[in-house]
Amino acid sequence: MSIPERRSRKNYSEGESSGPCHLTHDEFKKVHDHSPMGVVAVAADGIINYANTVALAYFNFKENEVLGESLFNLYEDASPVKANEAKLRRSEEIIDQEFLVKAQPGGRWVLVSSRVHHDAEGVAQTYLFSRDISGVKKREGLFSYLNQAAAALAKTRDTSGALELISRLIVPKFASWFTIDRLKDNRLELLLLKHEDPARIEWAYQYRKNYPHDLNSNIGPALVIKTGKPGFVPVVTTEMVDLMITDPVQREEVKKIGLRSVIIMPMFNDDKITGLVNFISSRSDRHFDETDLEFAQNFTNLIGIALENARLNDETANEIILRKRSEEQFRFLTDAIPHKMWTSGPDGRATYYNQQWYDYTGINGFDALREKIWDFIHPDDRAVAAVEWPAAVKSGMPMELEQRLMRHDGVHRWHLSRFTAHKNDAGETILWVGTSTDIHEQKVTGMEMAALNEELAAANEELISMNEEVAATNEELAAANEELAATNEELIETQAGLQRSEKLFRSIALNIPKSLIIVIDKYHRYVTIEGDIMEKLGYDRTNYEGKHLADISRERYEASRPLYERVMTGERFSIEEKTESGEYYMVHFVPLKNEQGDVDTAMIITLDITDIKHAEERSAKLAAIVESSDDAIISKTLESVITSWNAAAERIFGYTESEMIGETIYKLIPPDRQDEEPLILARLKKGERVEHFETKRMTKDGRLLDVSLTISPIKDPQGHIIGLSKIVRDITERKTDEARKNDFIGMVSHELKTPLTSLSAIIQMADVKLKRSDDRFLAGAMEKANRQVKRMTGMINGFLNISRLETGKIFIEKHPFELDRLLREILAETRLTVSTQTFRLEECANITVNADRDKISSVISNLISNAVKYSPKGKLIDIRCQVQKEMVVVSVKDEGIGIKPQDLGQIFDRYYRVETSDTRHISGFGIGLYLSAEIIKRHGGNIWAESEIDKGSTFHFSLPLA
Ligand code: ADP
Repeated sequence: MSIPERRSRKNYSEGESSGPCHLTHDEFKKVHDHSPMGVVAVAADGIINYANTVALAYFNFKENEVLGESLFNLYEDASPVKANEAKLRRSEEIIDQEFLVKAQPGGRWVLVSSRVHHDAEGVAQTYLFSRDISGVKKREGLFSYLNQAAAALAKTRDTSGALELISRLIVPKFASWFTIDRLKDNRLELLLLKHEDPARIEWAYQYRKNYPHDLNSNIGPALVIKTGKPGFVPVVTTEMVDLMITDPVQREEVKKIGLRSVIIMPMFNDDKITGLVNFISSRSDRHFDETDLEFAQNFTNLIGIALENARLNDETANEIILRKRSEEQFRFLTDAIPHKMWTSGPDGRATYYNQQWYDYTGINGFDALREKIWDFIHPDDRAVAAVEWPAAVKSGMPMELEQRLMRHDGVHRWHLSRFTAHKNDAGETILWVGTSTDIHEQKVTGMEMAALNEELAAANEELISMNEEVAATNEELAAANEELAATNEELIETQAGLQRSEKLFRSIALNIPKSLIIVIDKYHRYVTIEGDIMEKLGYDRTNYEGKHLADISRERYEASRPLYERVMTGERFSIEEKTESGEYYMVHFVPLKNEQGDVDTAMIITLDITDIKHAEERSAKLAAIVESSDDAIISKTLESVITSWNAAAERIFGYTESEMIGETIYKLIPPDRQDEEPLILARLKKGERVEHFETKRMTKDGRLLDVSLTISPIKDPQGHIIGLSKIVRDITERKTDEARKNDFIGMVSHELKTPLTSLSAIIQMADVKLKRSDDRFLAGAMEKANRQVKRMTGMINGFLNISRLETGKIFIEKHPFELDRLLREILAETRLTVSTQTFRLEECANITVNADRDKISSVISNLISNAVKYSPKGKLIDIRCQVQKEMVVVSVKDEGIGIKPQDLGQIFDRYYRVETSDTRHISGFGIGLYLSAEIIKRHGGNIWAESEIDKGSTFHFSLPLA
């Protein structure tokens, strides 16, 4: 038999991959559209791509609302670790797992199994088959509750405790209000009334007083008592109320209660109705059903047992009280009865009997009594006395005995006899004093009490067996609901979960910096309170739980009360507050709903936002500055996307803020300068600032503007560059001025050049002639004049070049020439005119370059003349050239004043001069290095300097070899 079974199972599992897998999606839909089960198909990421009508009904959504949604947004995984959800995500199959459908008010439970199907490409698709088990779940829940209630009730020992516990178990979890009535002499006596709203309890009592149940009628409680059957109205309609209640005032009152659903249960004891239990729901979303009815039935039985149990306990307690009282009376009596008193000598022989002895025994005369005293002790008690008395006499220790003494009429009465030694200073006994007190009545009552106690013990045993019965009932209940054990465990887990989430809540609250989180219930009592600004907001570390907000600070409560009431209506809102001391708080009011969807608690989250507010204020100020700036201030991302655009930017470029935000900065860069941006970005990404970078940008209407850019990186507190801020200054006007100035300089220089050339020629001729003259002054003067004219020519050439450069009229005419030769020529000439420094030319082999000889010559002259200008007398100036790869590098090294590092980067800028006391007296315009750099750049070479202050500088330039 086992083989075919295994086969059939195997076939079934094979069917998964060969059966439905060959169905197309539409075929699949057709098959499952009419399935009585909920069918849902999801992809591996949980996205729903199919749901049949049954499943849609479970979700309480329309098809278009479900398709494309994630399954995990619609279900709550019942497994505490979300294991099922994880399995589904891994495309593993699940069997009979419980899920809670989220969207359903009140919750709907479904039992889900899944099958995973891989298509031809191996893509996994999970089919979930679900069955509604909400009814079963509810039943399980209620019966587990019943079980707990039974266990709790079995422990109660008195009626009021039991009633208190019962009411807490029922309201508000099961019913809005409920009553227990005892049936006594055909009258209903209200034993307990509980309402979920404490404010309505008084009202409910009043209602019951004004409208007592009429047991002669044929409806409601009267009918239940008559028939012994429960009264059950799942949905109470207005029409019903109108029909059943004739008194218009009462009708109004009933409508006020909001009577939605009613169960009236008879309570039995030995088949006799002993009372009624009324379960009432006033909530529009809570209607009792058959499961509730069954629960109410069982619960009422429990109440019956519990009350009987409690009653028995109460009676026992009464007995104990009675006995206590008689003990007190006993003591009183003991005191009231006059003692029989006697004395004896140290040997124990009697020396005296008081009158009570004679009266009691009827013997007259001391000796006669002393002779017969033993006869008066009951024979059964004599032996004890015969041992105890001599022993006491011997030891001198006091003694006490209960014994029966015979009265003159032969009746033995119980006495308490005490025998005490009186001693002298030496500690010797001189006298024994004895008293015998008639305790007969008490002794007998005591014995009767003992008998009664035995009876009571028997009654107790009965009680215990009663308890055992209750326990048995519990067991039955437990047995009848075997699966409930599991549910209980789940419940415990849920509770553990709750405790965990409570802890979690606390640690979350503590971990939100500068926060206070308070949870209150609907009566405005604290449920929990936690947060690091507790103390700051006037809370100490006392336990607030369960306390009413008004008890902590009535003033504060009254001020905020409307807010608490508002949040309890289910509205979620936030308010911002500023304290007198200038702190800002954001308070969020969040209503929290219970399983029934009612708001029963609310969370109040207070956040100290002072820092944020201050930052906001600061940034508002900054924004005002940015807006009023004359320069365009633009911020952009590292990808050059514009994120802010101020008013000046709009004025300068003509684009509005909305046109530019989200656009890239390239929109402003002219086509021939687009490669500037990556270079700028590269510098900024290294954290450098770009300052006063002069370039051209384009306006909306296509005009080119001269601009100076200053760009700085924007960093987050951790120092990461998150964006760039850019200040754009429109320098078009300045540029026009400069151009005008350049034109002027160019024109003047040009005009000056012609007369200077003739002047130079005349001086040279005169110099030749006058060299041979006797007039030594004239001979030297022409030499000096020649030198000055040369200097002037150099300067004028400089100005001319600069104006050419600015207007783009400088041209490089390249021809191959020998660089070493040029260097030697320049050096020979310099040696002629400069006698203050020594020059040295090193390592210059035959080097040919293809370059503009005149312009390179002016670069070398310029570097040498700077070395002379910025060095003290008698120093060495070292000139060398070296071939490196495809380039030759010429270096001019001096031992002069040097250049500070901060100046080194700028000396090649136009008109830049280092201003120090050392350089002030040295003439110059700051154009030599600028021109040199421009010339070298145009040759495809490089120019740079190294320097150490007071030690000297070395200037290098490189040129490509020919
Ligand atoms: P200037 O006409 O002022 O010399 P340059 O453009 O030739 O103009 O030089 C710019 C500035 O660089 C000078 O003003 C000077 O401060 C500095 N400088 C140039 N060469 C040297 C050097 N060899 N030693 C020290 N400072 C120098």
